[in-house]
Amino acid sequence: MKINEYIQQAKETLFSYEILPPLKGQSLKDLLEGIAPLMEFKPQFVDVTYHREEFIYKKHPNGLLEKVSTKKRPGTVGICAAIMNRFHVEAVPHLLCGGFTKEETENALIDLNFIGVQNVLALRGDAPKNEGKFTPEPNGHEYTTDLVKQIIGMNNGKYLHEETETGFHTDFCVGVAGYPEKHFEAPSMKFDLKHLKEKVDAGAEYIVTQMFFDNQKFFDFEKKAREAGITIPIIPGLKPITTLGQISMLPRTFFLDLPDDLMDELEKCKTNADVKQVGIEWAIQQSKELVANGTQVLHYYTMSKADATYRIAKEVF
Ligand code: FAD
Repeated sequence: MKINEYIQQAKETLFSYEILPPLKGQSLKDLLEGIAPLMEFKPQFVDVTYHREEFIYKKHPNGLLEKVSTKKRPGTVGICAAIMNRFHVEAVPHLLCGGFTKEETENALIDLNFIGVQNVLALRGDAPKNEGKFTPEPNGHEYTTDLVKQIIGMNNGKYLHEETETGFHTDFCVGVAGYPEKHFEAPSMKFDLKHLKEKVDAGAEYIVTQMFFDNQKFFDFEKKAREAGITIPIIPGLKPITTLGQISMLPRTFFLDLPDDLMDELEKCKTNADVKQVGIEWAIQQSKELVANGTQVLHYYTMSKADATYRIAKEVF
């Protein structure tokens, strides 16, 4: 079933979460067993991130350069199939502009349709670590709006090089990303919202936000999005902080602020266990306030470690 249909039919706040494919060489079995306890809370969907292929050039003693893939987390599509088969839950693969030509995107969407995926989260992706600026593939998409248009085109039976309609069309519900603290490249929130509206006008049916730790930022973002004419569901993304390292890593990586009240508590922590306790309590508080505010779905960034999300869900759902 499609996510927009689940939301339309929901009588209370829905639960969903995101996982990462395991590192190359690690087993799918461990990942599936790890997330199994979360099924107790009947998630409507599980997102599976996509990690683009990055290449480095290794120089051999003979002077020749070898192109080597550094892809660390392959397997998004296979994991989606496994989740749907094992748990009978919608799996939502993330689909990137970066690293894909339009033809490769078309083929990937056909694969996803064939395995029964009905929802995709369309994203641009970031520049590879050794490049400063995002560059699309030749004949790839520069912005997510164009990727959304391609997916909706396929839903309408439009294929890239088919002169005539084949009669076969996909039927994806498309989600896109939104940023309560603004996307880091956007010069202003107004600019970012204008382009978010373009993704919606292109056919996106729901928005999942970047993580945030101050609910007021989400409420302000939602209000501004509504004022900008965006009417589709906006799903808040929440991440419990679980390690000392994340206190500096999360703001640096995701361009967000940690509120003073949260930092006051985190600064007292000496161990990862202390941080995790504070992070879980904070996320429970955030979740309860969002539910009280009528939020339709709560979406958790588990980073494939389900125990913190389990403890939050136990209190909230
Ligand atoms: P876009 O919507 O294309 O926007 C990118 C920037 O361009 C924004 O600043 C926007 O304001 C601007 N812009 C948009 N259109 C135009 C235009 N026409 N002209 C000028 N400027 C424009 N990354 C991964 O690699 N894998 C994942 O699995 C993944 N999952 C994610 C899940 C969520 C919920 C979120 C919030 C992010 C995720 N990301 C993932 C990160 C994401 O790929 C990056 O944040 C990326 O930098 C932007 O993606 P986007 O789809 O928001 O881009």
